[in-house]
Amino acid sequence: MTIFPLPAFQDNYIWIIQDKDSSGIWAVDPGKADVVLNYCHEHKKTLVGILITHHHKDHTGGVAELKQYSNCLVYGPEHLSELVTHPVNENDRVQVFSKTFTVIATPGHTLDHLCYFSDQESPILFSGDTLFKGGCGRIMEGTPEQMLTAMAKISNLPNDTLIYSTHEYTLANYRFALSIEPDNKELIESNNASQQLRLEEKPTLPTKLCLEKKTNPFLRSHIEALKIHAAQQLNEKPASNPIAAFSQVRRAKDSFS
Ligand SMILES: [Zn+2]
Repeated sequence: MTIFPLPAFQDNYIWIIQDKDSSGIWAVDPGKADVVLNYCHEHKKTLVGILITHHHKDHTGGVAELKQYSNCLVYGPEHLSELVTHPVNENDRVQVFSKTFTVIATPGHTLDHLCYFSDQESPILFSGDTLFKGGCGRIMEGTPEQMLTAMAKISNLPNDTLIYSTHEYTLANYRFALSIEPDNKELIESNNASQQLRLEEKPTLPTKLCLEKKTNPFLRSHIEALKIHAAQQLNEKPASNPIAAFSQVRRAKDSFS
């Protein structure tokens, strides 16, 4: 099984899952239909399944059109009943070729956000707009508490989990991360490596959970020095509890330029 991105819009990746023994492919968050249709046409593949992480148009915009071209299965949040053929929620299973994915509900960015995790052979996670390399999604519908819970759920996955996010936001995320952890050696190294990848027009994704734990401020909002820097950027006192500290890091990022 191979996983690779088809770029769409400014900075989205539509992740394609392909199996060497199959002419079918799966697409994760196809915000645009033509990108997937062109790939299928050029490589003589058929779209057999779609995973949706949440309702935003840049993740779902291509689904209706793709369904007209193929009889594909569509897994996603149940309220998207016009698009989704198989509504799923926390702990439901989805079979993609030989891998079984478990659905992890991660409200925060949106209330309906789902991630898809499989730990067969090598562990992988489709994290949508919940976790990015060096960042997390904006809290648009949920609460900081929900988003922190989502971060904790992801943190509990195996350390070698490969994380496939929907956006190429890494360099912007690292500019903020470095502003609150300027001496973090792993962060400096990963920033340099990611800059090189972007110079070569390569994706910085997937990332690995163990790297995120060492570099991603949203998995590190318990670290004292980081908390102090985030609070300083907001002209606030460092928060005294974990949810408020996470919220400070998120708000510092929202207003960072
Ligand atoms: Zn979104």
